[in-house]
Amino acid sequence: MKHIKLIMILLAASSLLSCTNQNDAKTQEGSFEWQIDQFADIRIMRYQVPGWDDLNLEQKELIYYLNQAALCGRDIIFDQNYKHNLSIRRILEAVYQDYPGDRDAQGWQDLTVYLKRVWFSNGIHHHYSTDKFLPLFGQEYFAQLVNETPSESFPKELGTKNDIITKYSPIIFDPAIDSKRVSQEAGMDVVSASANNYYEGVTQKEAETFYARMVKPNDPEPISYGLNSKLVKEGNKIVERVWKVDGMYGAAIEKINYWLQKASQVAENPKQKQIIETLIEYYQTGNLKKFDEYSILWVTDLESRIDFVNGFIENYGDPMGYKASWESLVNYTDIEATKRTVILSTNAQWFENNSPVDPKFKKEKVKGVSAKVINAAMLGGDCYPSTPIGINLPNPDWIRAKHGSKSVTIDNITYAYNKSSEGNGFLEEFAWDKAEVELHGKHGSLAGSLHTDLHECLGHGSGKLAPGVVGDELKQYGSPIEESRADLFALYFIMDPKMVDLGIMPSLDVGKAEYNQYIRNGLMTQLTRVELGNKIEQAHMRNRQLIARWCYEHGKNDNVIEKRVRNDKIYYVITDHAKLRELFGQLLKEIQRIKSTGDYLGAQQLIEEYAVNIDFDLHKEVLDRFGKLNIAPYGGFVNPVYTPIYDNNDNLIDIKVEYTQGYTDQMLEYSTKYSFLPMYN
Ligand code: ZN
Repeated sequence: MKHIKLIMILLAASSLLSCTNQNDAKTQEGSFEWQIDQFADIRIMRYQVPGWDDLNLEQKELIYYLNQAALCGRDIIFDQNYKHNLSIRRILEAVYQDYPGDRDAQGWQDLTVYLKRVWFSNGIHHHYSTDKFLPLFGQEYFAQLVNETPSESFPKELGTKNDIITKYSPIIFDPAIDSKRVSQEAGMDVVSASANNYYEGVTQKEAETFYARMVKPNDPEPISYGLNSKLVKEGNKIVERVWKVDGMYGAAIEKINYWLQKASQVAENPKQKQIIETLIEYYQTGNLKKFDEYSILWVTDLESRIDFVNGFIENYGDPMGYKASWESLVNYTDIEATKRTVILSTNAQWFENNSPVDPKFKKEKVKGVSAKVINAAMLGGDCYPSTPIGINLPNPDWIRAKHGSKSVTIDNITYAYNKSSEGNGFLEEFAWDKAEVELHGKHGSLAGSLHTDLHECLGHGSGKLAPGVVGDELKQYGSPIEESRADLFALYFIMDPKMVDLGIMPSLDVGKAEYNQYIRNGLMTQLTRVELGNKIEQAHMRNRQLIARWCYEHGKNDNVIEKRVRNDKIYYVITDHAKLRELFGQLLKEIQRIKSTGDYLGAQQLIEEYAVNIDFDLHKEVLDRFGKLNIAPYGGFVNPVYTPIYDNNDNLIDIKVEYTQGYTDQMLEYSTKYSFLPMYN
């Protein structure tokens, strides 16, 4: 469910990765700088908006207004993450912009890195681990910087320079104070132990009681109580401070509504207009019933080309799971890429009939799913700079069950991840030779996309259970077996001439590139995500190793996948792609049998033998080789810059996109233009 976040960037590696062959649609290809910065464990990239000029003026205008609405909530996420974040950000920005002293000192470099990290995490806790990170400079240097920066640079509400130094030094430097944003520690009061700003003076018990009282038993349409408010104790009373126009965060929400209002005027169709107006009403009232109404309208809008998320959506930041962080993502359908999934889904029966599984486990009538592929136009709030590569919303189970959910992959983000990794040495380190690297360069991107398409549109929907089998027989092995089934379906058909006949890939070389990257990843590169000495736990990783290792073992006699050693480094090289395809077919047949018959022992035997254990020496070697590449494990993006163009009579005639703004410039611009909230503390 929810957001699919790409944590480690192991390109073309995961089946989550999808990216189209957008080269033709790109501008400035070749000279384009995909990665623009790296600091601490972070790298900053750019993404492009392919097909921008194919959008008409009204669509561009709509995106522009939604973009503005996406930027206006930036302060909210800082404040939600920690009540001192906005103050700290403003202090650091004041110093960064106005400190007159030496900017070559090591301390200054350290300050710059710290500020960049604060921007990236929307606060002083790591965006992923949620641990507080500490500056590399000392308290004395902080005091010096504040003292030497002009007083008028700092917000007046913060008091004197002395007040600033006294109050914020321990908050920034003492590792014991508010050390974790989200604490899940068993046996602790997770509300008190978490530094987030969702509760004040309230214990976990009190929060639980407060919300338990609201829930109506057996409500078929339960409201997401607590989603859009801070829970505080005022005197002896516990009350909610609701995030709405005339409530908490009102100053930012009002601006969001201003732009949504403008967006509603240029909506693509009446339904979309209604969606935007319902959201505006929700922001005005804070009424969560209204938000459900909005979500239902949103999830059932399949017509609009422009789409967006804007609201209090995900609850990862609250260990209790009530409160949602503010985020926004504006996007538009990638028509070319979506066509591809439509072709696959309309030919679903052909694939089913021609799959290598036992005919008695095939569906007589199969319905493909056509997935929507989108491009992001703007990332905001909790989606910025660290962003999901896929969306699956809305979150309430009852809405999903009754009205469905939207599942989309964000193509241009994944594409940018891939492009920015070219030349970072990762592929070259683990691929056997230049030919393999070149084949990947030529087809790897499309191969990854098609794999995802086949997996999602056809793989999961194929096959049927034997009479009497319900589907939960495989228990804990169910999920890796199911993912293996979908992956094998994709792998088997990505080398089928039918794919070329259908016009969705130029030649079988695309399949070869996919086989190379799949085996490389399954046997080696995905191990960079596992700590040395650990086993493989995650379902997708288990499925990939299962497939790769099984084929390696079963192809040994014919040397289908060869283990080679050069300069003490191990490589796995496919010597016969056609034979490997046969092995994929055999394993697919067996895995479909296991699933169709609910063969628990069969599943257990396969998983335990091939998917779980890691050869210690190989693992160590992979980690060593990866470590030497110095690739930052987390990534995020700067947004493009959109500029409206007017004619002499002040009529809007176009909106121009540029990819020139740097990370620091963008952050400072957003802090100047889109900072509306007071410092509540
Ligand atoms: Zn899957």
